[in-house]
Amino acid sequence: MKVKFRNFLRNRLQKGPPLFNALEFCHDYLWKRFPSIFSWGINKTRIEIDLTSQCTLKCFNCNRAVKHAPSSEIILPEQIGRFMNQSIELNWKWKLIVLIGGEPTLHPHIFDILDILKPYKTSFPGSVIAVATNGYGRHVNDVLANLPAWVYIANSKKTTHINSFQSYNDAPIDARNYQGEDFSRGCRLVEICGLSLTRHGLYCCGPGANVDRVFGFDVGIKKLADLDDKNLKTQLALLCKYCGHYKYNYAEKEISVEKISPSWQVAFEKYNKCKPRLSLY
Ligand code: SF4
Ligand code: SF4
Repeated sequence: MKVKFRNFLRNRLQKGPPLFNALEFCHDYLWKRFPSIFSWGINKTRIEIDLTSQCTLKCFNCNRAVKHAPSSEIILPEQIGRFMNQSIELNWKWKLIVLIGGEPTLHPHIFDILDILKPYKTSFPGSVIAVATNGYGRHVNDVLANLPAWVYIANSKKTTHINSFQSYNDAPIDARNYQGEDFSRGCRLVEICGLSLTRHGLYCCGPGANVDRVFGFDVGIKKLADLDDKNLKTQLALLCKYCGHYKYNYAEKEISVEKISPSWQVAFEKYNKCKPRLSLY
């Protein structure tokens, strides 16, 4: 009995201090019981543009799956040009446009892409154009050194692979306690990071776009004018089922091992035999 009790206590303490556990419990209760007031707002003023799936690092639990689902495909400058034209036509005021990847500085036409973004920055000086880089490698740093001054550089200055992320390739639908969830509520990343543009279209978020890239549902929205709550909620309802970040809603902690649940194992096997062919933006 004593051994059982000690084991119980140790397990609880490993999960976190008692106050943290109590808060976690309250949060989970509210999230389940009051879905309408306890939800995330989709942030339509921020967007991440995935330039490439290639990277100089191969971190555990990377939410672009650069290690397990490699790809040399890139977004084309013309696609970004179309997106910027639609933004100007619709007078869409982006507060933040982040060029990201993979590692965005590996895109062979990154300077052409910045030339395409510059008129938007001139029309809307309040918008921030950023490059999110891992800062790892000579080529990466050569490109960073030559970026124009109006580009904000978010440099995480990594010196090695990152191995402490929340699990990503761990589909909530593979776990019993997420059955019956309304996945269209998304997770906090839709509010913090905002939307996503890839070569396959517009998405509710970057990690969700990557679910589509690997699983091949082909649900990218092809016109900015069609980017409304209804279409975004439809994407969330599908993509969040497979995205490990959904567990943020239940105070999921960082892990330092790679975790791949059965749905992702099957998806990676299929992907590496024959990549899904998604329509283009
Ligand atoms: S640096 Fe970023 S994109 Fe590259 S492997 Fe790590 S998490 Fe993924
Ligand atoms: S759970 Fe994943 S797919 Fe869903 S909103 Fe969060 S990051 Fe996007």
